[in-house]
Amino acid sequence: MATIGVLIETDGGGVKATNYGVLTAARAGGANDVVAFVVGADPEATKADLGAYGAGRVIQVAAQSGDAASAPDLLARILDKAIDEFGLNGLMGLASAAGRDLFARLAALRELPLVSDAVGVDWDAGAVRKSHFSGKTFATIKIAAEPLLCTLRPNTIEAVADETAAESGHFEVPLEDPGLVEILEVQQAGGAKVDLTEAAVIVTGGRPIASADNFKMLEALAEPLGAAVGASRAAVDAGYAPHGMQVGQTGKTVSPKLYIACGLSGSVQHFAGMKTSKIIVAINTDKDAPIFEKCDYGIVGDIFDVVPMLTEALR
Ligand SMILES: Cc1cc2nc3c(=O)[nH]c(=O)nc-3n(C[C@H](O)[C@H](O)[C@H](O)COP(=O)(O)OP(=O)(O)OC[C@H]3O[C@@H](n4cnc5c(N)ncnc54)[C@H](O)[C@@H]3O)c2cc1C
Repeated sequence: MATIGVLIETDGGGVKATNYGVLTAARAGGANDVVAFVVGADPEATKADLGAYGAGRVIQVAAQSGDAASAPDLLARILDKAIDEFGLNGLMGLASAAGRDLFARLAALRELPLVSDAVGVDWDAGAVRKSHFSGKTFATIKIAAEPLLCTLRPNTIEAVADETAAESGHFEVPLEDPGLVEILEVQQAGGAKVDLTEAAVIVTGGRPIASADNFKMLEALAEPLGAAVGASRAAVDAGYAPHGMQVGQTGKTVSPKLYIACGLSGSVQHFAGMKTSKIIVAINTDKDAPIFEKCDYGIVGDIFDVVPMLTEALR
């Protein structure tokens, strides 16, 4: 049995739902002992949620001085100590903006290899799976160093409940904040309510959306679904949406349970960013559009007719 640490991300005090898939990957069907590390959040308040997905211990990490939650450099140093204290064979986190930044610092500190944006882990083989060449191939990367460090693409591993009576604890390190980096504020791009990269459902608009104002129609569809709204590069380049909403090779990589593509042709560059979506629904006026070869459900129709009908039905 390996001991695997998972760095938990919180959102307004609560545990982000995307952490549960990371815990499932760390747990490996009950084969591993999982230590969940929380920063800022109360371990007593979160242990029921995290224990439900297999965390055996929930540990709040902190430094003697400085706020680790807003100082990634300090947090990396704390986790460096935690690896030794808890005898971790692996440490994982979300491949979010914060997770990628933090794990790179930690890997540099310990001079360890790091696999970012992984889509699977095989603890027995000490290997990590990662998508390459815009999703055309998957590489299995054997890591010949311990602990194994990786960040997991949100939503790629389905969260499986595994009720565990988690213990809570604290780990405080006699460190001071070197003061190199401090996060002052985090702003969601475009004022989005749901982060695109972590959304379970995404509604995306392509070129035929034709104006920034028409994105309101997609936001109306997204609302009853609790979805985030994305855009193709054609829509972004035309100025209908900010770049923060772009999905694809030169935009964001997403992996929702449901992806609704509204007026997208299905270019390889767009698919590079969303092909790991579990279910893809496409709406397109052209029955021969390439997207219909790659989706699970296709609707041949005009988005300006179909989207309001779908919204109404969902409401
Ligand atoms: C290096 C490189 C990187 C790139 N990176 C990205 C990227 O990150 N993300 C990305 O998206 N693209 C990217 N692209 C661009 C990509 O090649 C496509 O040009 C782009 O994805 C097309 O966007 P679209 O599907 O919205 O538009 P189009 O290709 O114009 O397709 C529009 C579709 O909507 C249909 N349609 C028209 N009117 C309606 C209507 N009223 N109702 C329903 N359907 C309708 C049409 O039949 C058509 O199939 C990249 C390209 C390059 C070269």
